[in-house]
Amino acid sequence: MSSKPIVYWASPNEVAALVNTSKNMVTNNLVKTRFISDKILDHINSGDKVGVKVHVGEAYNTHYLRPDYVREVVNAIKAKGGIPTLIETQGLGNNIENIGICEDYSICVGHRKIAEDHKKIAELHGYSEAVIGAPLQFIDGVNGVDRKVVEIKGIHFKEVSVAKNLFKFDKLVVISHFKGHPQAGFGGALKQLGVGCVAKRNKHLVHFDGTFTVNLKKCDLSLCKQECISSCPVDAIKIEGEHAVIDASVCYGCFRCMQKCPIKRTLRAPKMRNLPDFVERFIDNAMAVLSFGSEKIRYLNFAFDIPAMCDCVPNAGVPVVPDLGIFGSSDPVAIDKACVDAETNAPGLPFLNKEGEWTQPLEKGVEKFKTLMPAVDPHNVFEAAMRNKLGSIDYELIKI
Ligand code: SF4
Ligand code: SF4
Repeated sequence: MSSKPIVYWASPNEVAALVNTSKNMVTNNLVKTRFISDKILDHINSGDKVGVKVHVGEAYNTHYLRPDYVREVVNAIKAKGGIPTLIETQGLGNNIENIGICEDYSICVGHRKIAEDHKKIAELHGYSEAVIGAPLQFIDGVNGVDRKVVEIKGIHFKEVSVAKNLFKFDKLVVISHFKGHPQAGFGGALKQLGVGCVAKRNKHLVHFDGTFTVNLKKCDLSLCKQECISSCPVDAIKIEGEHAVIDASVCYGCFRCMQKCPIKRTLRAPKMRNLPDFVERFIDNAMAVLSFGSEKIRYLNFAFDIPAMCDCVPNAGVPVVPDLGIFGSSDPVAIDKACVDAETNAPGLPFLNKEGEWTQPLEKGVEKFKTLMPAVDPHNVFEAAMRNKLGSIDYELIKI
């Protein structure tokens, strides 16, 4: 018997299934979702509280995973006697002044930073108990700062702020929409763990190369009312001597102090991380999340409607490959590798360029995300995941 982790795969709807009337039945992606769920959810016992990690999609994004698939997974959990709750974390930052569509019709990014706004988008996208049959809970609290600090021996991090209420569940099911990502190369199960299950503190430390700092030459207590201190949601700012100082072990980069300080350029934001660092750090985060217990987690990747960009932006672009199907596994590395392999082996899709002409589709065997975004390489994710021993890139694919 193979010691490789199994990845179950259900191919997407075939055209034949839609036109075959010789049998009085057809199958479809929802039925296949239920079938593959029943295959992998062997970790659930009756009475288990099951957290179902989802991503509800950014406002105005139209590629996020349809809630219908999540409902089928929830039904499968209930059939095993589990008690499912949809779980999510807040998006990065806290500066909520700029949301919606601007006068020039551009769309601001980041409508999911606090629970109040995030919940509205979730409901708009069908991620509600009425549609899916399970309540939605923000496991990092209303501002995304509720955390449990987990110690690890990662590539960079020695400790990670995991979303606190994750640990209240007995079992997890991590549902991911497989697609591209501008910094990681692709988004799947590993990114759901390493970004989607951590509190804002570690989302920030993945995206930025440090915390906010005070320019001591500019900070002048005689010219302000110390607005920075009252604006900080986590009490990271104190006055020491003649200046404000920020506790780098607490700051999660919400931008509020910068917005409130009356003296321009006194508070300094960190720079964005370079791409290799981004990858290694979110994989470190994933390592901390797996302290939950790898044997208590199962993964489902839905490779439908696959643009190069993530569900966290309003315009993710057009699909770059056809639908690839549904993948299920107990190994987060194996399932993501199977999706990237399927994406590489699939023919690319043409799209209209700015001149209104159809592009030549990318060929089978070409890694599409890397070709379209040369600065990122999905294989860096697997290298980091192997270093942190999160799973296996060798897998056995079983088509169901
Ligand atoms: S950082 Fe700005 S608001 Fe805070 S003490 Fe200094 S000058 Fe005042
Ligand atoms: S120090 Fe500034 S950026 Fe950091 S958490 Fe406090 S208000 Fe936000």
